[in-house]
Amino acid sequence: MRFRCKVCGQDLVEQESLGSCSYCGCMESTDWSCPDGHYICESCRTARPEDLIQRTCAATNMVDPIALAGLLMKHPSFHAYGDEHHSLAAPVILAVLKNREVPGISGEQIRDAIERIKGIPVSVCGTRGDCGAAASAGAVLSILKKATPISNGERTEALRATAQTLMLIAEHGGPRCCKQAVFDTIRTTWDLLPIELHLEELPLHACDFAGKLKDCKTTRCPYFG
Ligand SMILES: [Zn+2]
Ligand SMILES: [Zn+2]
Repeated sequence: MRFRCKVCGQDLVEQESLGSCSYCGCMESTDWSCPDGHYICESCRTARPEDLIQRTCAATNMVDPIALAGLLMKHPSFHAYGDEHHSLAAPVILAVLKNREVPGISGEQIRDAIERIKGIPVSVCGTRGDCGAAASAGAVLSILKKATPISNGERTEALRATAQTLMLIAEHGGPRCCKQAVFDTIRTTWDLLPIELHLEELPLHACDFAGKLKDCKTTRCPYFG
């Protein structure tokens, strides 16, 4: 029998041990181990994307949003392309800000971020010039700035975050890539976060899905290798 690690793709080794879930952090006994220590607990293995995002964002101590989004996108419930990518960036950004001890970020806001993006259909990039992932940028700014439909500057900041993300996604051309849209959303949002947070620029990561997806733009993508 041969099993592969869902997180890194290496062959699992048969040995009894205590696995620490790479998503929710819980400990379970397991007969198979990844050489790099990755493990997915029973509850996370069968979780739907939004529940997985919720569980992971509540438990993680990661401070790099691109790395956290990359981990979540490797979960079996994430397809190559799909609307599960829409509600990913906003809770991920809020979770890492919480881990960076940015004041005022709560678990309730992280749950709210997932709720706000729910229901945006798949493929709207091509059918109406929109992107559910990009809406995550507006959701983060709206939550941080407490924007409402009747506020002035705060509403403008939320709209600008989504608009700038859509511009970046448009400039990268097609075909669509949900991974690229998530990375674009995180990078754009990061640059628009309130200046008083003093956050360093995010390093450019090589995409773990580079060349593995049917429609990968390869060298036309800034995250390729
Ligand atoms: Zn692994
Ligand atoms: Zn778990």
